[in-house]
Amino acid sequence: MQMLTILGATGSIGLSTLDVVARHPDRFRVFALSCHSNVVDLAEQCRQFKPRYAVASDVTKVDQLKQLLEKNCPNTEVLSGVEGLCQIATDPDVDTVMAAIVGAAGLLPTLEAAKKGKRILLANKESLVMAGPLFMNAVKQGDATLLPIDSEHNAIFQCLPSGYSSNQKGGVRKILLTASGGPFRQVLFDTLSLMTPEQACAHPNWEMGRKISVDSATMMNKGLELIEACWLFSVSPEEVEVVIHPQSIIHSMVEYVDGSVLAQLGNPDMRTPIAHAMAWPERIDSGVSSLDIIATAQLDFEAPDLERFPCLALAMEAARLGGSAPAVLNAANEVAVEAFLDRKIIFTQIAKIVAEVLSQFETTEPDTLEAVQLCDQQARQYALDLVSTLD
Ligand code: NAD
Ligand code: MG
Repeated sequence: MQMLTILGATGSIGLSTLDVVARHPDRFRVFALSCHSNVVDLAEQCRQFKPRYAVASDVTKVDQLKQLLEKNCPNTEVLSGVEGLCQIATDPDVDTVMAAIVGAAGLLPTLEAAKKGKRILLANKESLVMAGPLFMNAVKQGDATLLPIDSEHNAIFQCLPSGYSSNQKGGVRKILLTASGGPFRQVLFDTLSLMTPEQACAHPNWEMGRKISVDSATMMNKGLELIEACWLFSVSPEEVEVVIHPQSIIHSMVEYVDGSVLAQLGNPDMRTPIAHAMAWPERIDSGVSSLDIIATAQLDFEAPDLERFPCLALAMEAARLGGSAPAVLNAANEVAVEAFLDRKIIFTQIAKIVAEVLSQFETTEPDTLEAVQLCDQQARQYALDLVSTLD
């Protein structure tokens, strides 16, 4: 029986994870669930899964959560804030931590889980982008198991040879990271500035949280994933090729020195990578329907247009720069995306803000968590100031 903590249980990945859990009550038991402020949904999840702990990281919501649980879930203890998140990520009774908080807020509890040697199912790519070396070091020191949830990275993981490591690459030549191109791949270039948050969040193939949906529309998501792939699979940015594949049926590929290219295919449904990582090295039913390859009929590929998607070019630059650049990029992007969702800036200003912030910060080599957090805070403040001048 695996004891599972879900950080970010009320989000899109959290919901898909609980869907898989509910299919396998013999394998998984929910130890703890967290949300930020959506305590009504969290209380409903607690009623169904009866965890030992429920955490509201937004401390102003704790009393409401306690009230909601008092009657239906008296045995679930309520915790709060970042301390609560770290407690449920590191408790000795926890085997597996699903890291599904969105953004930089996910870093600390995920890092703590790594230090404690947990099995980490990583959806929160931002933590690896911000603090790649620290995070990978914590995984090594803590003897943690890191399994990718991002569908592309999960696909790559499935296509890599067994025993793959930084000094044992088993004939791998390069990684082909696929991207759908998002909702704006084909809209008239001159109309990009008119795109609304609703249009940006209407992804053609995936249903996701609002932040990652906007990142998919700008293709910053693919840029963050490029950086994520470099850390997860010990490769340089030059060894990763971004390929647009609008159908999202191939979830990524690995090319070997003999010319073989292995791909992982499946319907676009996050329950596949989630179930894969939850059961690994075994396989379990995820609830995802069988891929109808005849109905799919056609798989298309094209090169990404970096003029249309300047955020992808910026992330590629940050990947090449290394050091603090990815943390600065990520912080600026989080601020800009939130401002866009709040209608304070227009769609095309997201890339402008990220570019401006990235150009203002010299690349350093932050080697402690505090140094990473300082970079993050300074870049965030700079981006916020820029937003207020545009507002
Ligand atoms: P979401 O917005 O649907 O859910 C986010 C979750 O995090 C919610 O439970 C929310 O309560 C919690 N949260 C938000 N702000 C928080 C804060 N400040 N502190 C603590 N908790 C907070 O997001 P999502 O789409 O589920 O994505 C989660 C993560 O998974 C992201 O890093 C995203 O990039 C990654 N991811 C998502 C998908 C997908 O299909 N949704 C695919 C690949 C990767
Ligand atoms: Mg992805």
